[in-house]
Amino acid sequence: MKLVKVKGIVIREVTYKDNDKIITILTDTLGKVSVIAKGAKKTNSPYLASSQYLVYSEFVLYQNTGYYYLNSASVINTFYNVRVDLDKLQIAFELTKMINSVTDENQDCEKILQLFLNTVYALDKFEKDKRCIINAFKIKLFTILGFAPRQDKCSNCSKSLLDSQEEYVYYDFVSNVFLCEECKSSADLKRLVKISKATYSAILFVIRTDIKKIFSFELKSYTEFETFGQVFSDAIMSGI
Ligand SMILES: [Zn+2]
Repeated sequence: MKLVKVKGIVIREVTYKDNDKIITILTDTLGKVSVIAKGAKKTNSPYLASSQYLVYSEFVLYQNTGYYYLNSASVINTFYNVRVDLDKLQIAFELTKMINSVTDENQDCEKILQLFLNTVYALDKFEKDKRCIINAFKIKLFTILGFAPRQDKCSNCSKSLLDSQEEYVYYDFVSNVFLCEECKSSADLKRLVKISKATYSAILFVIRTDIKKIFSFELKSYTEFETFGQVFSDAIMSGI
């Protein structure tokens, strides 16, 4: 029996038979995997903590007849503050739902794991505006998956958007590009979102910076940032 050691966080748990669970783990080396945790629902089970939603552990797994089984596990972080705060837990649910729908089993997802761990860690430890955390997560998730608008130029006239004197830029969520003030007048207004320069800089920052630093920015208001995060991720999700 070959044992495999992985680190990962449980992003879904379902009861299987009376005392067993099937847990979905986002792992560092195996991608997203479903694992049968035998007896995990028993109060004296050694997997009781590790097999719970949102717990990050080191797992030892083995494969049998095409399924992964849990052999042993040791907890690294339970993210206690998220677990006991309904608002934070709700956010975690929303994010794991998104991860589940954009990842396939056994596909490499090391960066997505890193992003999710950093995000849950931020929810657990910092009292940062939740709209900042949720939407920076969404923007970075789709950046990792290759969908981010990376250009800082108007897609129509190629004018630099960061250097221009104009106060606003416009995000076209159908084409997934940004437009300048002048070019927006010839575009279909229904598909544009107006964004201030400060929010635009924050969006570019999240797209370009290292996963570990994506929450290291401040905005006076996160309303536009939230609108962008929502519109951007909805447009991409509907196309996936
Ligand atoms: Zn332009």
